[in-house]
Amino acid sequence: MRQFLCWLGWSLVLAAVAPGADLAVAGRGRVKELKITILSTMLADGDELGEWGFAALVEADGHRILFDTGARTDVVLQNAQSLKIDLTTVPEVILSHWHNDHIGGFLRLRDSVRAKAPTALARTHVAEGMFLSRRATPPHVEINPMLRLRPDYEKTGGVFVSHAGPVQLYPGIWLTGPVPRRHPERNWSGSVSVTTPAGAIEDTVPDDMSLIVDTEQGLVVLTGCGHAGVINIVEHARDFIRPARLHALIGGIHLFNASETSLAWTEDKLRSVGIDNLIGAHCTGIETVYRFRKNLGLDRAHAVVGAVGAGFELGRGINPREIAK
Ligand SMILES: [Zn+2]
Ligand SMILES: [Zn+2]
Repeated sequence: MRQFLCWLGWSLVLAAVAPGADLAVAGRGRVKELKITILSTMLADGDELGEWGFAALVEADGHRILFDTGARTDVVLQNAQSLKIDLTTVPEVILSHWHNDHIGGFLRLRDSVRAKAPTALARTHVAEGMFLSRRATPPHVEINPMLRLRPDYEKTGGVFVSHAGPVQLYPGIWLTGPVPRRHPERNWSGSVSVTTPAGAIEDTVPDDMSLIVDTEQGLVVLTGCGHAGVINIVEHARDFIRPARLHALIGGIHLFNASETSLAWTEDKLRSVGIDNLIGAHCTGIETVYRFRKNLGLDRAHAVVGAVGAGFELGRGINPREIAK
């Protein structure tokens, strides 16, 4: 018995200190305190900068995680400074997928913190497929910047953790891993191919990964570009966490150029799941946000276009900043 208690004790300790470990031993948790702040997207006001990119800071029950790093080298760094957000106390990064508009600030951000805080931004989560060789058609040259960034990041002491499936990083804080494509929500360019041993195949962005936070009020879903398809992501999360309603959907869901048919289909699916809050940032599309607001029974307080510095706080709802009010 004593031996068993000792084993159990160590299992709990190991689970607590090893993000990415299977936390079945420690059980599933719900997050009580959550704040998500956008650090890169198209819309900005005040002193912040807008760009075609995405990044957000996640603060959940004392854990601080950077989700994506924007498009341009310095934009997230400048926006964080302007918003007085200290990145030296953020140990972890999640890169949602390989596209330039999500990984542009990655190395510069790590460089900006490591002299003062060697462990800051030093552990980076990606989904399998992140480091596949990609070619544009034509001119058939390597275009995946992660292949270049990987050794440079590792030289700074940074570590990549690649996920093949869903994982609970901390109680109630989940990564989807690669998302099964049960519905054909195709929203990528189609002009990029992946090199495989069997030859070149279309890049469906298999590495597209989202962050899901489980709360008493429902699931909070944070996406980068949502290339897996927002409904595929939501259904996947409801399968591996629990079939709860969406308390908030935040980030890019790549519907800016979607057809009427596809918008209507997505809207119906979201309605059947139930959604309380929407911050449509990055590639969601402005028209999409207003359409969803109207057709999903939301209002100005519960559905906004995402702006830099805007965000969502559990118990308080959406802070839209000035321009998106
Ligand atoms: Zn994007
Ligand atoms: Zn993308």
